[in-house]
Amino acid sequence: MTLVRFAPSPTGRIHIGNARTAILNWLFAQKTGGQFMLRYDDTDTARSTEEYAKGIAVDIDWLGITPSRVEWQSKRFARYDAVAEDLRARGLLYPCYETADELDRRRKRQQARGLPPIYDRAALKLSEDELQGYLAQGRKPHWRFKLAHAMVEWNDLIRGPVHIDSSTLSDPVLIREDGTYLYTFCSVVDDVDFAITHVIRGEDHVVNTAVQIEITAAIGGTIPTYAHHSLLTGADGKGLSKRLGSLSISQMREDGLESMAVVSHTALLGTSDNIHPCTDYKELIDGFDLAKLSRAPARFDEADLLALNAKLLHMTPYAAVKDRLPEPSEEFWLAVRGNITKLSDAAFWDDVIQQDLKIDPAPEDAAFLQTARSLVPPEPWDGTTWKTWTEAIKTATGRKGKPLFMPLRMALTGLDHGPELAAL
Ligand code: GLU
Repeated sequence: MTLVRFAPSPTGRIHIGNARTAILNWLFAQKTGGQFMLRYDDTDTARSTEEYAKGIAVDIDWLGITPSRVEWQSKRFARYDAVAEDLRARGLLYPCYETADELDRRRKRQQARGLPPIYDRAALKLSEDELQGYLAQGRKPHWRFKLAHAMVEWNDLIRGPVHIDSSTLSDPVLIREDGTYLYTFCSVVDDVDFAITHVIRGEDHVVNTAVQIEITAAIGGTIPTYAHHSLLTGADGKGLSKRLGSLSISQMREDGLESMAVVSHTALLGTSDNIHPCTDYKELIDGFDLAKLSRAPARFDEADLLALNAKLLHMTPYAAVKDRLPEPSEEFWLAVRGNITKLSDAAFWDDVIQQDLKIDPAPEDAAFLQTARSLVPPEPWDGTTWKTWTEAIKTATGRKGKPLFMPLRMALTGLDHGPELAAL
């Protein structure tokens, strides 16, 4: 049984890039008959909030994702303490007393000498006097994991074979001076304890993976299978940031986008499949394959998403939207769905239908419209009324084609384009 996890930090709401990671994990779980866990990476207790966590749950629910399990890192500190204690006892987690400033100066010296800015493990060579000196100053240690300095290899389901020599990396800090844990440690302990089979996440974690594989091995865990997808860029080719409000899933929902438009666009972006609207997950699951994901960054353009939203609405049957329409009428929906980008635009056409428009006709059309008004057939109107009426106007005024229809359209809707008038 496969088990994947989506692991946001509740320090903000999720944006389209995070949603893509969630959707890819969800599709993978569905495709393989596995399960999806929502795991809150909330070890940063100062910045994580319950409010954001709830918001993220709402966001992924709106995207049609139903986790079979929810976990919180903040509830697992006792477990992390135990694992850390074991690593300490085995010399794999060692105390360091350097201040951030000292480390920074050391890095600069290394760079000036053309050396890579890798932590030099000075803490492992401290003399008893130096140690006592630090303790006398009241310094508290932070704790680093001792990397194996070996070649770490894995077969990435998106990137193919990856090799990273861990001697090119600094021993990662797993515990800060104040005793708080860093993400990479808790993530490994959780992935091992919860028996995560596949870790699907952004390629900004590739180097973390080398470190995490070594920590997993050190704690005797089974190494999961990894897949690192490329990141989204904005239309300008630059990276997305969490702060880009309009790209947040909550904003998209508030803007009235269809969740399946967001899902279809996000699931197919950066794959070898054409981006097209899917009305439910089934087609996406059937066609899903991590191997279809390109390694190149995928460009996300809001304009493309809006266009896809419109396409999806154009093919949406009345039954699927009837509870969200201003006018619960199938005829209304069929008349207007081809002319809206967002469902909320339907309200505009409802107003057009319900209200008397105050439009000053062009002087050359005034008499024509007077005549047209006098020829309006008596109600009730049906599907033949438009034709009967416009034929009568044609006969009375001699106009045809655009000079006949455009003034009518302008008078009836206030716009020179829109739904087919016979239906409207
Ligand atoms: N909390 C991490 C993030 O949002 C999770 C990364 C992972 O999937 O391991 O980047």
